[in-house]
Amino acid sequence: MTDSDFQPDTSETTEAVVVSTRRVTSENTDEVRQIHLRIDEPAFYFLEGQNIGVLVPGPHAFGNKTHHRYYTIANAKAEEGGVELELLVRRCFYIDEVSGEQYAGVASNYLCDAQVGDLITLTGPHRSPFRIPADPSSNLLMLGTGTGIAPFRAFMRRIYEEQKGWKGKVRLYFGARTGTEMLYMNDLNDDLTNYLDEKTFKAIQSLRQGILDDEADALGKGIEDNAAEVWKLVQDDKTCVYLAGMKKIADALDQAMEKAAGSAERWQSVKQRLVEERRWSELTYI
Ligand SMILES: Cc1cc2nc3c(=O)[nH]c(=O)nc-3n(C[C@H](O)[C@H](O)[C@H](O)COP(=O)(O)OP(=O)(O)OC[C@H]3O[C@@H](n4cnc5c(N)ncnc54)[C@H](O)[C@@H]3O)c2cc1C
Repeated sequence: MTDSDFQPDTSETTEAVVVSTRRVTSENTDEVRQIHLRIDEPAFYFLEGQNIGVLVPGPHAFGNKTHHRYYTIANAKAEEGGVELELLVRRCFYIDEVSGEQYAGVASNYLCDAQVGDLITLTGPHRSPFRIPADPSSNLLMLGTGTGIAPFRAFMRRIYEEQKGWKGKVRLYFGARTGTEMLYMNDLNDDLTNYLDEKTFKAIQSLRQGILDDEADALGKGIEDNAAEVWKLVQDDKTCVYLAGMKKIADALDQAMEKAAGSAERWQSVKQRLVEERRWSELTYI
């Protein structure tokens, strides 16, 4: 599922107030901010990994009245009379292929520039392909880059802190260009490492090797280094696979699994079964 798979329903909106915003990557790399929003609406209902929409007020380029983009709920906690949501937002910039000029992504810059006390208009929460299986002996194979970590963090909080007693293997493969881009696993915020004490959890972090490599290349390397375990997991009837982050990560997994399987056909038939049995979910975006 990617940006273009979503048909935004923006008919119902909820107002949220920014209660905190802080940068969670260092100054010499892409800016990612952890933003907490409070919704004074006790009935606001959400599930881990769901997405909310952000409506940026216009006017916008090409006569668009509003600009709507999705962000995954990284965490949510009920507060008296409302709920507090956490988002993880990368400040995006794009190069216009024709003019060569750089321009700022509308919604991500709007959110990253928002100050404490500002009001943000939300839609949703929206359906998500990501669901935690009901059976606690299921294995969760989570593969991601960048802000794709958000739904995984929400999952881990749910299974280890609220639900407790998860018995299946939980494996997080995460690729980044630099150590500081290991979101929730860096010097600025290391709360995912708290779960390393859990017997069932293992995090496999990999950094890019070459200067031209990106996060997906780094993730591919991490999968290749552990191909035997991943291959065994994907063939297990109890495994659910989740991909979140850059679109390219599906290719990185394909390449590593084709090698592990010995042929593209063999891997594709395993993948096909995962898809048919609804044990394969993707939430990738640009
Ligand atoms: C389900 C979902 C969850 C997401 N969760 C997060 C998250 O947790 N954190 C996060 O930082 N980002 C997340 N994203 C990405 C986010 O929604 C925005 O796409 C991103 O922040 C850029 O938006 P923008 O308004 O800043 O840029 P824009 O101003 O929209 O510019 C985006 C660039 O992409 C192109 N583009 C615009 N719309 C589309 C489209 N529909 N399909 C393909 N190309 C398009 C534009 O031409 C431009 O080059 C998520 C996306 C989806 C679909």
